[in-house]
Amino acid sequence: MTGGAGTDSRSWFLRDEGERARHQVVAKLSAAFAERAARYDEEGRFPHENIEALRASGYVRWTVPKRFGGEEISLYEMLLHQEELARGDGSTALAIGWHVGMMLNLRASGAFPEPLFEEVCRSVVARGALINSCASEPVTGSPSRGGRPQTTAYPEPGGYRIRGRKTFSTLSPALDWILVTAGIDGSQDVGEFLLRGEDVQVVETWNVMGMRATGSHDIVMDDVFVPAERLVSRLQPGQKSPRNRDGGGWLLHIPATYLGVALAARDAAVRYAASYQPNSLPHPIAKVEHIQEKMGQMELKLLAARTLMYDLARRWDEADAQARVAMRPQLGAVKTLATNSAIEVVDLAMRIVGARSLWKDLPLERFYRDVRAGLHNPPMDDVVYRMLADAAVEDVTQPGFSRSGN
Ligand SMILES: Cc1cc2nc3c(=O)[nH]c(=O)nc-3n(C[C@H](O)[C@H](O)[C@H](O)COP(=O)(O)OP(=O)(O)OC[C@H]3O[C@@H](n4cnc5c(N)ncnc54)[C@H](O)[C@@H]3O)c2cc1C
Repeated sequence: MTGGAGTDSRSWFLRDEGERARHQVVAKLSAAFAERAARYDEEGRFPHENIEALRASGYVRWTVPKRFGGEEISLYEMLLHQEELARGDGSTALAIGWHVGMMLNLRASGAFPEPLFEEVCRSVVARGALINSCASEPVTGSPSRGGRPQTTAYPEPGGYRIRGRKTFSTLSPALDWILVTAGIDGSQDVGEFLLRGEDVQVVETWNVMGMRATGSHDIVMDDVFVPAERLVSRLQPGQKSPRNRDGGGWLLHIPATYLGVALAARDAAVRYAASYQPNSLPHPIAKVEHIQEKMGQMELKLLAARTLMYDLARRWDEADAQARVAMRPQLGAVKTLATNSAIEVVDLAMRIVGARSLWKDLPLERFYRDVRAGLHNPPMDDVVYRMLADAAVEDVTQPGFSRSGN
């Protein structure tokens, strides 16, 4: 696929020997994860052994800056690996994607004070420490909507005491560092606090239809003391986190993951079509016209979404800070196109296979459930369409935009 003769879906977007070598490491991990993905999904259990393998391979430090002992891989390369991991197991890929993505985000945005960032990076390099940001709450819903967190930080000498609960805390069973948002008592401000994993209690609430092995449980903070230097930003109403200074490039780990799941569905369906020959036909179903059309549609959707994603990742890697911020609508467009295309590709794959796609001994029904979760990761579709519309209006109304002039 997904480019025509002489290309294949695994190597088509690889650019150099470094990417190729690291991609081989990831492909091996992915193959091992694929073997056990159905079991973790069935049991809704967090895949600690996969996370340990990712630590042992060094993957968890690949986005850490070189000055602190990491590989400092590009956004583009991170997406190659996230896609490949998701081809084996979507849950493991989404879970570790938050960590590698966040290290890239902190590297690009400079949102943490340098000594704190160094401490986090060194812990990742030395012992495979993992980080994620936990901002969602039942009452605020998606943090991207701007609601004030109910989790509250109470100032006290030397720091703050935090009380509250976060939902959807992906990777929670393995987190060493957790960035949480909390309203600061006595003010309208919201703080971003860096907590240690052992400070919080994980409550196992994650029993859902898709991405079941991401460990996205609730975390509870019961009077957790946080020293003042772990308040990494204090935001007034309407003010954005300094993490936004990267334009949101790191969030492309999300579309990469769902495209990986879609690629796995495409692989399974095409393999099935090439070998399944009912006795009503003199050849496998891959030569039947309507099956060929569906296979072609899958290829086209994957090619379009992947090309957009990798093109924008390359542009982001090459852009300066200001240009990265201006790219936010286009980066959001990648997420919307990719997650919706992934849903369509899995649907087509299941139509190709027919009723057998419903069976638990094929992976397609898991892919069907997993890709659905993509709709509920940020940025949400309505936000993306609004950003694109605003950007279009700004484009045609700027001074000097001519084209007809009416
Ligand atoms: C697999 C998975 C992993 C996740 N991992 C994490 C994580 O690691 N950390 C984390 O913090 N979060 C995580 N999330 C949570 C995610 O970021 C969202 O907070 C969560 O999915 C809730 O979003 P929502 O749109 O369904 O909820 P809500 O915001 O409650 O929205 C519910 C409905 O109301 C609409 N709506 C609500 N408010 C508005 C508004 N202001 N304007 C317009 N429409 C509105 C929405 O469009 C939606 O239709 C994860 C989610 C999933 C599915």
